[in-house]
Amino acid sequence: ALQCGIVGLPNVGKSTLFNCLSNAKAQAANFPFCTIEPNVGVITVPDERLNKLAELVHPQRILPTTVEIVDIAGLVKGASKGEGLGNKFLANIRETDAIIHVLRCFDDDNVTHVDGSINPVRDKEIIDSELQLKDLETVEQRIQKVYKQAQTGDAHAKTLHNVLIQYKAALEEGKSARSVEFESLDEIDAAKDLFLLTNKPVMYVCNVDEDSASKGNKHVEAVREAVKDEHAEILIVAAKTESEIAELETYEERQMFLADVGLEESGVSRLIKSAYSLLDLQTYFTAGEVEVRAWTFHKGWKAPQCAGVIHTDFEKGFIRAEVIKYEDFIKYGSETAVREAGKMGVEGKEYLVQDGDIMHFRFNV
Ligand code: GDP
Repeated sequence: ALQCGIVGLPNVGKSTLFNCLSNAKAQAANFPFCTIEPNVGVITVPDERLNKLAELVHPQRILPTTVEIVDIAGLVKGASKGEGLGNKFLANIRETDAIIHVLRCFDDDNVTHVDGSINPVRDKEIIDSELQLKDLETVEQRIQKVYKQAQTGDAHAKTLHNVLIQYKAALEEGKSARSVEFESLDEIDAAKDLFLLTNKPVMYVCNVDEDSASKGNKHVEAVREAVKDEHAEILIVAAKTESEIAELETYEERQMFLADVGLEESGVSRLIKSAYSLLDLQTYFTAGEVEVRAWTFHKGWKAPQCAGVIHTDFEKGFIRAEVIKYEDFIKYGSETAVREAGKMGVEGKEYLVQDGDIMHFRFNV
């Protein structure tokens, strides 16, 4: 499953955010290191199309797609040197597909800040530099290994060496790996295989107080200024307020509370959508009488790979896929009607699945 890791210094509101994001309840307490084990939560991705399809198909059940969220606790200054829960925490990040970086943008004297004052830009730099130091260590180790091979003229080793040298230079300057752009496809592929921490897509969540929920505050502005060259998304979320909202019984009550603090859509819902696009994810559907279901795939995946999301056997024994465009399904109202109108596509192994496709896989067992 695809995973987003929540990172940030202690006491910035990671667990609070995690709590409102997932069904699992992480402990939120006013104490650094409160969440020691990485907590994994599963969040469902809201998708209007799923309901529209269900209205036509009347399935026994409707299953939205999910993304996993991991609350990664324990990052402090020195983590790359193994301080705090350093290494364990970094290993947890390595397994994630994208990073949600939470920054404390709320003032509250009752909540201790590990560095004594509220300064999200400094906090971000502390985290970034720990991740960069760890990456630098990885890169230097790889350079040592690949250097000799590159000398022998091995083309792949040469490309890799070239990539590593560029990464090293950037990391030494205090830049993240994601800031390095490669020109050739070979280099891009070699870069991917390194799984560097600072190469993962990132978005920033500014955790603010209720009063700043809709407009942000001076801390948010400082963050905006500091990351303006990163082309990263910044979301303003009042995590504590939202966790209170999440406790309310009915949808109407929750909407009223949101409107009270000046929001149309909850930060959590905005966050889920942003995380989905951050990960370059898209959705295809399967629609049968038993279930109408959304499945997650990476933009650019071909039909067999997408079939593999359902079951590895579907990928191995893939023969072909019958594909209906979402708009056609809605227009004609049923699979049979789409078929009769000649609008059902029969696609082979090379077909690039599109967001919204309704798929039916044919395979050998
Ligand atoms: P973590 O260490 O990053 O996981 O931080 P927690 O989520 O445990 O939050 C630390 C403390 O800050 C808890 O007492 C939370 O209730 C409090 N907190 C979290 N978000 C906010 C916020 O937006 N405003 C205020 N005033 N307190 C918050």
